[in-house]
Amino acid sequence: MAKAQPVRAPRGGALTCRGWVQEAAYRMIQNNLDPDVAERPDELVVYGGRGKAARSWEAFHAILHELRQLDDEHTLLVQSGKPVAVMPSHPDAPRVLLANSLLVPRWATWEHFDALDRQGLMMYGQMTAGSWIYIGTQGILQGTYETLAALARKQGWEDLRGRLVVTAGLGGMGGAQPLAVTMNEGVCLCVEVDPHRIERRLQTRYLMDSCTDLDEALRRCRQACAQQRPYSVGLLGNAADILPQLLRRGEAIDVVTDQTSAHDPLHGYVPNRMTLDQALRLRQDDPARSTQEAMRAMREHCEAMVGLLRAGSTVFDYGNNLRGMARDAGFADAFAYPGFVPAYIRPLFCEGKGPFRWVALSGDAADIAATDAMILEMFGSEEPHLRRWIELAARQVAFQGLPARICWLGYGQRARAGLGFNELVRTGKVNAPIVIGRDHLDSGSVASPYRETEGMLDGSDAVADWPILNALINAVNGASWVSVHHGGGVGMGLSIHAGQVIVADGTPQAALRLQRVLTTDPLMGVARHYDAGYDEACRFAQGKGLHFPMPSRAPR
Ligand code: NAD
Repeated sequence: MAKAQPVRAPRGGALTCRGWVQEAAYRMIQNNLDPDVAERPDELVVYGGRGKAARSWEAFHAILHELRQLDDEHTLLVQSGKPVAVMPSHPDAPRVLLANSLLVPRWATWEHFDALDRQGLMMYGQMTAGSWIYIGTQGILQGTYETLAALARKQGWEDLRGRLVVTAGLGGMGGAQPLAVTMNEGVCLCVEVDPHRIERRLQTRYLMDSCTDLDEALRRCRQACAQQRPYSVGLLGNAADILPQLLRRGEAIDVVTDQTSAHDPLHGYVPNRMTLDQALRLRQDDPARSTQEAMRAMREHCEAMVGLLRAGSTVFDYGNNLRGMARDAGFADAFAYPGFVPAYIRPLFCEGKGPFRWVALSGDAADIAATDAMILEMFGSEEPHLRRWIELAARQVAFQGLPARICWLGYGQRARAGLGFNELVRTGKVNAPIVIGRDHLDSGSVASPYRETEGMLDGSDAVADWPILNALINAVNGASWVSVHHGGGVGMGLSIHAGQVIVADGTPQAALRLQRVLTTDPLMGVARHYDAGYDEACRFAQGKGLHFPMPSRAPR
């Protein structure tokens, strides 16, 4: 069926659907595919390699049709991007339930998934692509900013002033890296193989400069470091070529990471020793060889990162499974450097903190300004770094699609914020309802042993009961839509995760749902880390008077 491009979510206060909850889903799936938001909207790809919003254009239009008809007594079921049923439910139930890319564990491989995908039986949902709450590159910006700030603190640096960060990948998520570095006052050299991605990050002001020559890029970076001036440059090249070159030349680099689409060896990572066009053709003509070449290239890339680690750089994995791929390609030492969660983020997870986000359904930037002001009033004095983030984001982040904001908030804070937004809607201080969601990369919603749950204190890295419990309690408590996915972030067989989205439409019923869902969603993160024995979670639970039925299994 025709794709009817370009897709753009309706704006304003008039309803197309039969209620604001349905309208929110209707607008958000379209917002995911807005050409200003999605990386490859023609192919329904939102971000993260081939993370899609719907299985096919036919399925996309059928979802829109069902959402327009849906009343408050029914729930739409979506199976890997295809609407499969509308079931009787009740007004407090989620209006949509989604399951994406789930496979029985023994079959949970890319090979099996690809075969089903080719037959039109499945779709890869990544995290927020298939659960309709992607907000463009801003969605990961604060997390990257927080991660780099935590890294600086751990190194004993005040910030990244005068420090050179080398990374790769300027895609939907990776594109946040240069701005996150410059927001921390540092200098970023980001290698990217696709000139269009560099162009896009320049246009949206995530990136300051571009270059096609390594020497020249390094010269500009060194100058900015010497002048202690924030600066970022996108270098056109392949990371599997550039990183080994940097190592051979003995370049001193402070921080090294990577955000290429290493989770997907066929449709994500681009092998070196060939042009981008040749690599794209090879994917079509000979998928097996293309995968083999990508695995070899990822090994070389990862070997260089370990080399830079040994040479004194601070190196961390940024959640794309480059280490896992390199190990599968025969590099035994691939896990020599840590993942970003155990290295920097886990203490935040212990307090239920994670990437809370919201979107102004009106389409008015002024509505986000009103929410920013409310967040500053609520939390600005107790959390100075949150104040700094909101002020920087308001000045520096260009919206993609519907105006949105992200801000890491934890247990207690999220419910307060949600109720506050509901009041803004009720009192007409914003022009339409606000939709609230989060990444699946959150404190209690994901099992992913190479990423969010890497190196858990009690060894429970691969236990996937938690994201399922998270989805169940969010559905019971009345989230507007709830999703369970497989394979996001790191790829098939390696993660199970859940999402939830809830609408603040200004009604008293919404206030009750917001209070419940935005309490229990982050509470799951506290429970998960309490159970695993983290002191930070135990102290936090005690401070908040939280009751868990059994004592923490702290392996002291
Ligand atoms: P994307 O597919 O939109 O972008 C990947 C980019 O990497 C593309 O621009 C591509 O051209 C580039 N690239 C691929 N191979 C390359 C190579 N060899 N050298 C240089 N550039 C290369 O993906 P995305 O949404 O930006 O996500 C990137 C990765 O990060 C994914 O693996 C994703 O699962 C992971 N991820 C991490 C987090 C996190 O919080 N750390 C969050 C979301 C996604």
